[in-house]
Amino acid sequence: MRWHYGRSAPLPRFEYFAPQSLTEALTLLQERGQGGRALAGGTDLVVQVKEGVKIPIPSYLVSLRRIPELRGIDFSARDGLRIGATATMAEIAESPLIRERYSALADGAEIVGSIQTMNMATVGGNVCNAAPSADTAPPLLAHEAVAVVAGPQGERELPLEEFWLGPNQTALQPGELLRELRLPAPPANTGGVYVRRTPRKQMDIAVIGVAVLLTLGQGDRIERARIALGAVAPTPVRARKAEAALEGKAASEALFAEAAETAASEASPIDDIRGSAEFRRHLVRVTTERCLLEAVQRARTA
Ligand SMILES: Cc1cc2nc3c(=O)[nH]c(=O)nc-3n(C[C@H](O)[C@H](O)[C@H](O)COP(=O)(O)OP(=O)(O)OC[C@H]3O[C@@H](n4cnc5c(N)ncnc54)[C@H](O)[C@@H]3O)c2cc1C
Repeated sequence: MRWHYGRSAPLPRFEYFAPQSLTEALTLLQERGQGGRALAGGTDLVVQVKEGVKIPIPSYLVSLRRIPELRGIDFSARDGLRIGATATMAEIAESPLIRERYSALADGAEIVGSIQTMNMATVGGNVCNAAPSADTAPPLLAHEAVAVVAGPQGERELPLEEFWLGPNQTALQPGELLRELRLPAPPANTGGVYVRRTPRKQMDIAVIGVAVLLTLGQGDRIERARIALGAVAPTPVRARKAEAALEGKAASEALFAEAAETAASEASPIDDIRGSAEFRRHLVRVTTERCLLEAVQRARTA
C-alpha cells in the first residue's frame, strides 16, 4: 500500500508504506535506500518531522503497525521475557506478567505521557529514539535487556548498552529494524522499581530517572543489585560502583544511603533548561535511596 501524505502544512511531503510482514518491510528499506524511517506510534517521529528538529526530514516512512512479527509479549522461565518492538506502553503497563516479574518496567511504561500517548507509543520507539530521558530505558538496562535487530543480512543481538550511542543515535545500520527486546528471567526474590523526577507530575520529560533491581538471599543479604540511571549522561547508564557496594551485604538504610551517594558520583549530567548538573546529582542520590528502600520491600514480597 502506498500513497502521498502531506496535505496539512507544516508536515512535509513524504511517501508512506504499510508493509504486512517483516520481510516486506526489510525489502522496502533495502530497495528504497537511505532517507527513509520506520514509523511505529509516531509520538516522537511526527513531532520531530513537524518541527524539523533532531532528525533529517525523511523522504519516506515505513509503518510498523501491521507487522505481526513485531508484536506481542511472551514469557517463559527458561527464555525470559520477549517484548515485540511495537508493543505499546499501555500493553506493557497492563501486562500482569510484567507487573509481577518486571515491575520496574511496568513503572516506566505507565508514566509515558497520557493514556492517549501510552496507547500509541511503543517500546521500540522509546528505545530507537534514544533519548537519554526515555522512561523505559533505565528499567530495560537494569534488566540487562538485549535488542534483537533484523536487517538485510539476517538478525543480530546487541545488549542495550551497545545499542545506544548518544542522544538520538543508535547502532542500527541503514535498512535495519529493532525486532524485539529480550530480558532474562529475574532470579527469585527480586524486587524492581523505577522512579523519575519531573517538574510537573505528568506529561513531562524526566530530569533524572532511576531503576533499581535487588535480589535478596538469606537474612536480607543482597545477592545481586542493578542500578540504571536516565538523563544523567548522553545515554542511559548503569551505576556499577554502587551495585558493587551493595552486593554481598545485608540490606540496611545506612548501606542504601552510602550506595546512593556512590550512584550520584557515577552520574555525569549536564546543566540544561530542566536542571543544573548539581541539582541532577542531588536528585540521583535521593531517588536512588528511595528506589533501594522500595525495591527491598518488593523483593521481600516477591
Ligand atoms: C505528549 C507526549 C508525551 C510524552 N511523554 C513521554 C514520557 O513521559 N516518557 C518518555 O519516555 N517519552 C515520552 N514521549 C515520547 C514518546 O512518546 C516515546 O519515546 C515513545 O515510546 C516513542 O514511541 P513511538 O512508537 O511513538 O515511536 P516513533 O515516534 O514512531 O519512532 C521514534 C523513533 O524510533 C524509530 N523506530 C521506532 N520503532 C523502530 C523499530 N522497531 N526499529 C527501528 N527504528 C524504530 C523511528 O524511526 C523514530 O526515529 C512523549 C511524547 C509525547 C508526544
